[in-house]
Amino acid sequence: MTRAFGNRPPLRPSELLIPTPAGLYCPPADIHIDPVRPVARALITHGHSDHARAGHGAVLATAETLAIMALRYGEAFTGSRQVAAPGETTRIGEVDFRFVPAGHVLGSAQIVVEHKGLRIVVSGDYKRERDPTCAPFEPVICDVFITEATFGLPVFRHPPAHAETAKLLDSVRLFPERTHIVGAYSLGKAQRLMALIREAGYERPLFIHGAVEKITELYQAEGIPLGDVRKIEPGERKAEGRKALAGEIVICPPSAIQDLWSRRFPDPVTAFASGWMRVRARARQKGVELPLIISDHADWDDLQATIREVQAGEIWITHGEAEALAHWCGTAGLKGMPLHLVGYGDEGDSEPEGKPAEAGSAEAAP
Ligand SMILES: [Zn+2]
Ligand SMILES: [Zn+2]
Repeated sequence: MTRAFGNRPPLRPSELLIPTPAGLYCPPADIHIDPVRPVARALITHGHSDHARAGHGAVLATAETLAIMALRYGEAFTGSRQVAAPGETTRIGEVDFRFVPAGHVLGSAQIVVEHKGLRIVVSGDYKRERDPTCAPFEPVICDVFITEATFGLPVFRHPPAHAETAKLLDSVRLFPERTHIVGAYSLGKAQRLMALIREAGYERPLFIHGAVEKITELYQAEGIPLGDVRKIEPGERKAEGRKALAGEIVICPPSAIQDLWSRRFPDPVTAFASGWMRVRARARQKGVELPLIISDHADWDDLQATIREVQAGEIWITHGEAEALAHWCGTAGLKGMPLHLVGYGDEGDSEPEGKPAEAGSAEAAP
């Protein structure tokens, strides 16, 4: 793309942002984006643990992301912190940085990096489907678009989240004597699921595992209505108390659906809300009776639509199915380049964090 009357930008894209073992590095500003190791100055796209780590000298992020980091790691998670207001430009060195909503989880942002007419967008993780718990993704036209490819294979097409939510509520109506235990990542997915359940008109209390409690309170404090949400009380940890939860919905981290914890509920139905639930073998392997395909990542169609929308000639791919998406870029006349960044993957819990290759191998299994 030409700008500024066809003047060549003084830096090439590969000089403005460089993939390093610590993460993407911007030499003229001396900052890293979503570093996986402690660095002097970090810009953070969102609060998931593979992107937001503790121990940096200084952090620039949205107010919500800073709050999430403080909640997870304690107030001393960084030496100093600075709020990036949405849409506002922060100049560091000669480089302008702007945080724009990514539609992934509360506070999630793309980072627009601009230097003398050259614009690179680092999207972090993102999705295009509507989410009542966070600001929608805003496409920004750019020269280079840096994208994830978690679900970058044609098999991954997410159905509408409200239709998957309806499956859960149908099951609850069908089995009023059973407890529905739904695994959902504790940051983002759990709260989105609660909001979707409320939008569907379900008004009973929702019960949550202790690991989901603090983040849920933070969402509520940010003004996101989730209705009557109750933590499982100590008495309900015993079999007697749990009988009271027959017919109720319990939301827990994905790791808990395979635990003894979940089996102590009355005749539980185990569900899991994840884009991976498109892969039936994966649902079976996790003992999931009711797979719900609800994802906070763009699916195959939305990755392509987004790449076309931002009009970048070059697509750099951070993690996930990078080779497959790069290949598609080639067929679309675009330059697609896997960055082979290590340390990004699904958010903790039972997913293979830091081992994105496993996602592909699980999919490839018969
Ligand atoms: Zn994420
Ligand atoms: Zn991620």
